[in-house]
Parts: sequence; structure tokens; C-alpha cells
Amino acid sequence: AQSLHYRGRFAPSPTGPLHAGSLVAALASWLDARAWHGGRGGRWLVRIEDVDTPRCVPGAAEHILQQLATCGLLPDEPPVWQSQRSALYQAALDQLITQGQAYPCACSRKDIAAALRALGHAPERHATLPYPGTCRDGLHGRPARAWRFRVAEFKPNQALVQMQQAQGAHFSIASNTVHWQDRRLGAQVQDVAQEVGDFVLRRADGLWAYQLAVVVDDAAQGITHVVRGADLADNTPRQILLQNALGLPTPRYLHTPLVCAANGEKLSKQNGAAALDLREPLRALGEAAHVLGLPAPPTLPHSSIPEALAWWVQAWLHKTTMQTREHAVLSTLV
Ligand code: GLU
Repeated sequence: AQSLHYRGRFAPSPTGPLHAGSLVAALASWLDARAWHGGRGGRWLVRIEDVDTPRCVPGAAEHILQQLATCGLLPDEPPVWQSQRSALYQAALDQLITQGQAYPCACSRKDIAAALRALGHAPERHATLPYPGTCRDGLHGRPARAWRFRVAEFKPNQALVQMQQAQGAHFSIASNTVHWQDRRLGAQVQDVAQEVGDFVLRRADGLWAYQLAVVVDDAAQGITHVVRGADLADNTPRQILLQNALGLPTPRYLHTPLVCAANGEKLSKQNGAAALDLREPLRALGEAAHVLGLPAPPTLPHSSIPEALAWWVQAWLHKTTMQTREHAVLSTLV
């Protein structure tokens, strides 16, 4: 069955060094992998998500890997780089085109704004509205720019969903509405057509969209559990639809709490979060563990990094009770 083994990953975009918020996601995904199966442990991988090349900073990926190593978070396999995997993304896009589930789009931002205006939407709402579907029925002689996923008439492969549900999957799809159970956030639902619309798979500048790359790679790397920041939670339904369309398994998802800056905004590279201060790695790890609701080991000041991490693995194991129950059931199966 799907969850008898565990492969997790941390997937940073090398747009700058890790900050306090990204360490939370890194630590959580590492702890979850190590705590798997009553502490016997699964595999933990790192994937460098450098598809959005204009936003990537030279040397940032190496810096991130070094920051992780300083914190004792070492991947079990050599990191994978998305920039070297275009052939896989192209094959997935080709499959979707063949299946009639992807279509070329000629619209510029301006075209989309004009179409939304024509539908009576005020400009200040445009950013939150789904693509109006201008090119869904053809380009009408205009040149193709991007490729979009056809959410509007999505017909889920229910045989695949049922097979996954029989193996304990935690999601369902009804037309273009996805229900899924996040391990921390609980029951979630999104009507992808209403809330997102026909989303981009390949951008007008030729770059691969995050949604397609992440789905292809999670499957190619055999990822069974995704642990990442809550800012990514609302991407999950799009990814579940893509997995279904491509005939790929759906991992379990856990979205970790975000770290807020002093002004209450989420900490991110975009709003200038400072790089992690790793002169005292245990202190940075302790702060990340605190965000995850894990106490500090009583011996923290005298602990080595491996000792502290081992202690947090046990704390994580106790905390994720839902998962622990799963472990109990699963350990009777193996
Ligand atoms: N590369 C994404 C980011 O750094 C994370 C992708 C993921 O974990 O699915 O925000």
C-alpha cells in the first residue's frame, strides 16, 4: 500500500538563503521523515526548485544546502535540480495536450484585464479572479504564448481516485472541486474552477510553472509525504487535479505554521526576511521547533545538534498523534 514506506522532501527555491520561516518547513519535513514508523525513519530528500530562473540567485542553492548541513539536516540522496529536468516537464505537458487537458493561450496580461473588464469586473478585483477562458476554444489566429490546464471541464479519473482511496488516500475529487485532509489543517476544500481557473503549466516566457514541475517531481521522486509551509496550502488542490490527470499518485500533505515578521506579515524572501543567523544553529533550530509546537530539550544548552534533533524526533512523534495512530495500524501490517 501507498504509505508503507516514506519519502519526504524539502524543496527550496534558490531565490536567497534560508530564513527563519523556511527553516521551520525544512525541520518539520526532516522530523516527519525521521519519526516515520515509530522512529525507524523514512527517506528525506532535497530538491532545488530553480525553474523560475529570473528569480534565482547564483550561489543561493549551495548556500541553502550548507545552511541545512550546519543544522544537521542532511539529505539521504544527492539533491535534484529542477533546471535539469525540462524533458520530464515537457513529457507531462505533451501527455496533457494529447489528452485534451492542456491548451495554448495567446493572452497577455492586458488581454486578460480587458476580458475581465468586459465581463464587468472592477480592475482592483482582477488579480483574484480566474482566467476568463478566452483561449479555451481556440486561439482564433493569435500566436500561442503560454499553456494552460483545462480546469473548466475537468473529468476526474475516478477509477484512479477509488484505487487510491482503497489504499488510504485522504482526498476526493468531484468535477473540479477537491476535498482533501491536511494532517495539520484538517478538512480542506477548493473549487479550482471558481477560485483559480485554468492555470498556467508553461509560461509565456517559456519557463515551466511551479504547479507542473512540483507534481512531476514529487511523483518521479516517489514522494509519499509533502511537508511544507502553509502559504502553499492552497496550491494543493491544483496539484491533486494534475496528479489525477497524469495518472500519478497523490502524496499526503502537512502544511506547517508560518513565521510572522514584527509587522504581522508572513516572513518571506520577497518582504526582505533576514538570512538565518547560524552562528548558533541550536538556537535557530530551537526557534523553528518552538513554531512547530515542540518544547526545548531540557538539556538544550549542553546538547549537540544530533542529540537535540533526536530529542525533537521523539517530541514530533508524540505530537503528531493522528500520524502515530496511522503508524500503529501500519506496524500491524508490516
Ligand atoms: N519551492 C517552493 C518554495 O520554496 C516550495 C515548493 C513545495 O514545497 O511544494 O516556496
